[in-house]
Amino acid sequence: MYLIVHCPRCGSYRLIKGQRTFKCFSCGNTTTLKADYVVATASSADEARRKIVELKTSKAARRE
Ligand SMILES: [Zn+2]
Repeated sequence: MYLIVHCPRCGSYRLIKGQRTFKCFSCGNTTTLKADYVVATASSADEARRKIVELKTSKAARRE
C-alpha cells in the first residue's frame, strides 16, 4: 500500500510506503505520519504518481 501524504508545513505532496516518518522534498521538514496527513492511497507506485498529478492539478485549478 502506497500513501500519498501532504506536508503540514508547506502542503507539498509526497509518496511514501511503509514509513512512520517522511521528509518533505520542498521544505525539508520531517513529519511523523498521522492519518490527517494522508490524502490518498494507492496499490501501486504508478497509480500513486497519477493521483499526485491529479491532486496537484485540482489544487492549481482551485486557485483560479
Ligand atoms: Zn514541506
